[in-house]
Amino acid sequence: MTDAPRLVVATGNPGKLREIRGLLEPTGWQALSLAEAGVDSAEVVETGRSYLENAVAKASAVAHVSGLPALADDSGLEVDALGGRPGVTSARYGGPLLTDQQRGARLLQALEGVPRARRRARFRAIVVLALPGGERHVREGILEGRIAETPRGENGFGYDPVFEIADGRTLAEIGEEKQQLSHRSRALRAMMGVLGVLHGRA
Ligand code: IMP
Repeated sequence: MTDAPRLVVATGNPGKLREIRGLLEPTGWQALSLAEAGVDSAEVVETGRSYLENAVAKASAVAHVSGLPALADDSGLEVDALGGRPGVTSARYGGPLLTDQQRGARLLQALEGVPRARRRARFRAIVVLALPGGERHVREGILEGRIAETPRGENGFGYDPVFEIADGRTLAEIGEEKQQLSHRSRALRAMMGVLGVLHGRA
């Protein structure tokens, strides 16, 4: 295992790190956390203009300072009835100090009176793999659904209790199944081919 090529996962979120490690396990890559790679998490800054810009900024900065390939993601919730908002500002929607629960309640309030047929929404994730020499690869993953009328379920984080998938359950109700379906895991799986090629080169 010591010969396994290494990459850094450019996130301070332990849940994302776990998810990405699980997905990378069969590829032969060893996924390091920022701390394991000796990278200060202050390197992981978001400019806030687009998912792509945020993910590129995080992955490139970490690849540059660590000298290793770096993987970063950026994601958000897009609600059709709100013209695609909150989108890239999903983490701050309603104000920076709200809890996830308050943020979800704020979203339901904004959609009050909007009928089920017009509550379509999607989670979108952009994953970027940046190499120290400047090479970059970008993949996208989308999970379609709709905004529920009331929050349901105990699992997950963020908007999971108010996001319904096709069968009517919310992401907070489906538990571990989310790892297979999520926008992030879809984007990461789309990156597997690139990681396979780079593994051959390493
Ligand atoms: P980031 O990719 O960590 O910047 O996530 C942006 C924001 O989008 C998060 O703070 C959440 O509010 C929301 N979000 C992203 N992915 C998910 C998810 O899988 N479930 C619920 N909310 C999410």
